[in-house]
Amino acid sequence: MTTPLQETSTEIGAPETETRESRARPRAAIAGMTPYVPGRTAEEVRRAYGLGDIPVVKIASNENPFGPSPRAVEAAARALGEVNRYPDGAAIDLRDRLAARFGLARANVTVGNGSDELILLLALAYLEPGAEAVLAAPPYAIHHKAVLTAGARPVFVALDDYTHDLPAMADAVGDRTRVVFVTNPHNPTGTAVPAAALDRLAARVPPRVLLIVDEAYHDFVDDDARHSGRDLLDLYPHVVTLRTFSKAYGLAGLRAGYALAHRDVVETLDRIRPPFGLNSVAQAAALAALDDEEHVARVVAATRQGRARLLDIARRHGLRAIPSQTNFVLMRPFPLLPPAASGAPTTAGDSGPLVEGLLRRGVIVRPGENLGMPGWMRVSVGTAEDIDRFEQALAETLND
Ligand code: PLP
Repeated sequence: MTTPLQETSTEIGAPETETRESRARPRAAIAGMTPYVPGRTAEEVRRAYGLGDIPVVKIASNENPFGPSPRAVEAAARALGEVNRYPDGAAIDLRDRLAARFGLARANVTVGNGSDELILLLALAYLEPGAEAVLAAPPYAIHHKAVLTAGARPVFVALDDYTHDLPAMADAVGDRTRVVFVTNPHNPTGTAVPAAALDRLAARVPPRVLLIVDEAYHDFVDDDARHSGRDLLDLYPHVVTLRTFSKAYGLAGLRAGYALAHRDVVETLDRIRPPFGLNSVAQAAALAALDDEEHVARVVAATRQGRARLLDIARRHGLRAIPSQTNFVLMRPFPLLPPAASGAPTTAGDSGPLVEGLLRRGVIVRPGENLGMPGWMRVSVGTAEDIDRFEQALAETLND
């Protein structure tokens, strides 16, 4: 029997119709978690603030405002014609290309539906209740979430001058530690760790512990400060390097990330990953994007210019800003507050009035309260016009 289309809809599980006893319960570790708070969309802000035809500038989610490579778009469009087929579950072409680029074998590369998927899979594969993961405080939110999802305990190590304190993180490794997360450069602060310090951490973390180096913003790092977890892999097989096509390559909406790791790690993830994690359109686009080195170089140059402008704007308007190696800048009005030691948002400081003033003027930035940096706001690099709009809205808000 077919069901006729309904004219009205019912929310199954609406609070007023629910009885507690009837509900299935998630694992205890998950019951206490809260959903990730994404940046607000332009449309949502336009409606909420009655902005009418004013173009809304969204510089809140560390996206690439310059767009994907046209070659990647063409390849994606071609792949769309064949989406009746499942993708290559082993993503052979893309893994081979990445392996060649990094001087590794296919067996050392795995791909996922964004690096966020790989973070979750790594946590599920290597953590369990009773195990611990060491993270910076505040952490990249998805690392924290993955640790909690796996039922493990996060052990937070406060940042030192807004930068990972790698010696203290090594000190925090104990018998129960299975994973150490380093975000280089870090989100939300934008700071990078020196090569020698990461090298020393890899040497101090025991081989039974995975050292996951998340390099989502690697391409934006200044040339003289750029180094990778990949360079440590030959000597330290417990180092896993995560990269993404979401930032410099401009494919955030397609979701493509990858990990460079010892073959044991790749084989372990193979056991639990969804068989077609990286869709065929994303695979095609990622391959083409890798080939368009000129496009990436242009994006990187424009991003570095944009972040220098954001730092300059902050300085000229009397804001404190943290020098960044990424495509965003964390800034706040004086006086300064220390970063939260727990990683959890605290009530100290409030970026609210500033963020609100910008929103009213059609500029969306990310309040630090959601990122464990209360009082700060995270401003992503936009196009030159986006940054002009930001500066104008900032000046008006500060003069209000
Ligand atoms: N890792 C870090 C540190 C990030 O900031 C982000 C995105 O903002 C990601 C990973 C997610 O990357 P993907 O889009 O590949 O899931």
